[in-house]
Amino acid sequence: MSISKTDSCRLCPNECGVNRVNRAGRCGASEKPKIAKYYLHPFEEPCVSGKRGSGTVFFCGCGLKCVFCQNYAVSNNLTGKEITVKELAEIFRRLEDMGAENINLVNPTHFVPQIAEAFSLYRPKIPVVYNTHGYEKEETLEIANTFTDVYLPDMKYFSPKVSERYSGIKNYFPVASKAIDFMIKCRKTRFNGDMMTSGVIVRHLILPLNTADSVEIIKWFSQYKNEAYFSLLGQYTPFGKIENFKELQRRITRREYEKVYSALLDAGIENYFVQELSSASEEYIPKWDF
Ligand code: SF4
Repeated sequence: MSISKTDSCRLCPNECGVNRVNRAGRCGASEKPKIAKYYLHPFEEPCVSGKRGSGTVFFCGCGLKCVFCQNYAVSNNLTGKEITVKELAEIFRRLEDMGAENINLVNPTHFVPQIAEAFSLYRPKIPVVYNTHGYEKEETLEIANTFTDVYLPDMKYFSPKVSERYSGIKNYFPVASKAIDFMIKCRKTRFNGDMMTSGVIVRHLILPLNTADSVEIIKWFSQYKNEAYFSLLGQYTPFGKIENFKELQRRITRREYEKVYSALLDAGIENYFVQELSSASEEYIPKWDF
């Protein structure tokens, strides 16, 4: 496979084919790992954050670039610091020493080979969580599979019209659904007490004026209801580059939230997490101070 260190990056479905040593592809990333922050994150799902917090590393750049991105400064503007693979391995060690419940890699896709190399230098004894937008290639996931215990993919959109409008990509659903199917086949659900040590949690953020898409996603997920968990996020906060998207300039309503939540219950999905509407706040967006 062509990885980011070679001449032609095809790590994600964008398949830019650029040499990241001297040119950026759609994700904006060079071949050196760049991170915005690492810390103990208390606000993931309870079985991920636990009591001590999830040892989260936020990678800069993104191959999806949603207009409403809640981490816009990091995903689009690449605000952060370049580090070496050795320093990344040291960060994993430091998070483990700080008492992290796991290592949580946020938006890792475009750095998967570098992350694999860092884990070959130091593999913490805690689980590793692969926290992704879901727009993934199976070949890249095969590398991720060598270090991942828990997959935490988004399923953002069902309709090609919606994914094109907000991320400029028509084939999000067919690509992401195939990637999630791969993850679910690879990782059976296991818990150690309250903490997930293996498995898949599929996340979906409800967007304003978009409940029909959310309901389709729930229908699609119901085929996996005994094999994986579903996490319904109600915390959408207007953010990012949304000046031309009037519908995104408000939070979701209680009615929208309840419509999607009812669809989840009607589908007989019992393994789920829900985030209350009251959790919609900028307070949940980390400060980018690395
Ligand atoms: S990882 Fe970045 S450069 Fe490589 S194919 Fe994806 S968007 Fe393009």
